[in-house]
Amino acid sequence: MSISLPETFAKLPRYPLLYPHPSPIHPLPTLTKHLTPNPRSNPVISLFAKREDHSSPLACAGNKYRKLEYIVPDILTNSSPNGPGSTTGPTPTTTTLVTEGAIQSNHTVQVASVARQLGLEAIIILHKATGGGLTASTDPTAFLRTGNVQIARLLGAEVRMLEDSSTVDSDDRITPILEELRARGSVPYWIPSGASLHPLGGLGYARAAFEIAAQEEELLGEDGRFDYVFVACGSGSTVGGLIAGFKLLQKVEAPTRLDGRVVRRKVIGILTSPTKPREFHEGRVLGFARRAARLIGLDPERDVTPDDVCLDDRFVGTAYGVLDSESKHMLALMAQHEGVIVDPVYTAKVMRGVVHWLQEGELIKDWRQQHFNISSSQSRVNVLFIHTGGQTALSAYADI
Ligand SMILES: *Cc1c(COP(=O)(O)O)cnc(C)c1O
Repeated sequence: MSISLPETFAKLPRYPLLYPHPSPIHPLPTLTKHLTPNPRSNPVISLFAKREDHSSPLACAGNKYRKLEYIVPDILTNSSPNGPGSTTGPTPTTTTLVTEGAIQSNHTVQVASVARQLGLEAIIILHKATGGGLTASTDPTAFLRTGNVQIARLLGAEVRMLEDSSTVDSDDRITPILEELRARGSVPYWIPSGASLHPLGGLGYARAAFEIAAQEEELLGEDGRFDYVFVACGSGSTVGGLIAGFKLLQKVEAPTRLDGRVVRRKVIGILTSPTKPREFHEGRVLGFARRAARLIGLDPERDVTPDDVCLDDRFVGTAYGVLDSESKHMLALMAQHEGVIVDPVYTAKVMRGVVHWLQEGELIKDWRQQHFNISSSQSRVNVLFIHTGGQTALSAYADI
C-alpha cells in the first residue's frame, strides 16, 4: 500500500523507523456487539483498532517512533536550536540523545532504542514526582525497576532519576545536564517530553492521517470512512498531528468527490492527566496542529481552528499514571472480550472514553448533529481507536 502525500509534505525529510507498511487496523467485533446490542439500530456502529503498538520492529513499539521519524533527520544534521543553553555556529555531530519523562515513560524507551539504532548514547531523565504512579504503587521499589525502566537499562540508556520536578522550570533542570555533557566532549541533542514541544513533533501523526485514509478504502470500501478517531492526549502532538493531517486530507479529497461533500473525520482526544485544565491542553493541541499544518502546506490560522480540537477530560482519573478501578475494568474488558491488551496509563482511559461515548449515546447524537443537513444514506458509523502502545509498563502495575 502506498501512501501519497501532497508535494510539500512529501518533501519533508523522514527517517524510517516503522515497518515499511501501515500499522494494522482490525475490527473489534466482540466489543462492538457488547456495546451495541441492537444490530438493527440505525446507524450501525462498528469499532476498529489501529495498532500503533505493532508499527515498528524497535523496542516497545508505540506512538513516539512515528514522531521520531521526522526528528531523526534533524538529529543527524543537528541543525535546529538544540535545547537550552546551546550555542550558535557550526554544529558538530550529535553523540547523545537526552530526554525526560515520568518513571514509567514509554517515550524515553523509544528515544533510547532510536539512539541505539543510530549508534548514539541515550540519557533519560525520569521524574519520580511526575504523575501519581510511584506514590500510588503498592510496591514502589518494583515500580522503579520493572516495566519501561528495565527496558531502558537493557537498551543501555543511562537512567537518571530525579526526586522532584514540579516546581522547577524544565530548562533549569535540563541545562546543567546538557552542560555537563558538553564539558565532557559529548554533543547532546535534547528531545522534550513526548517530543511534542519539538518543532517537528506533529508531523508523524499528520502522515498517519494519510495512512489511515489509505487503509479506509481497503477495509471499508470506496466511500467508507472512519467517522470518529479516538486517541490519547498526553503531551498533545499525537492528536495535534492527526488533526492537521486530516485537515490537509480533507482539502486534497474535496475536489475528487463527485457529490462535492466534504468528509470530516472527527478526532477526539482523551486526556490522561488532571494536572492541567482542559483549556490548557486545547491551546497546546491547537498550537501543535497549526505548527504541523504550516509545515505540510496548509494555512495554519485559516485551515485549523479551535473547533477542530475536541478534547474530553472526563476520564483523567485521580492522577496521571494511577490505575483507577475504571481503567482496571477496561484493561480486563479489552483482554477478555477481544484478547487485546491495552496499557494502564493511556489507552485504558481512551477505551473508557470510547465505551462512554457509545453507551451513553453521545456518539450517535454528535453524528446526527453533524449530518443533519446531509441527505445521507449512510447507515454505518465507523469508530477507530488508536492503540498507541505502552503495554510494557504493565509489569510495574503487577497488582492488576
Ligand atoms: C506518549 C503516549 C501517548 C500520548 O501521546 P502524546 O503525543 O504525548 O499526547 C499515548 N499513549 C501512549 C502509550 C504513549 O506512550
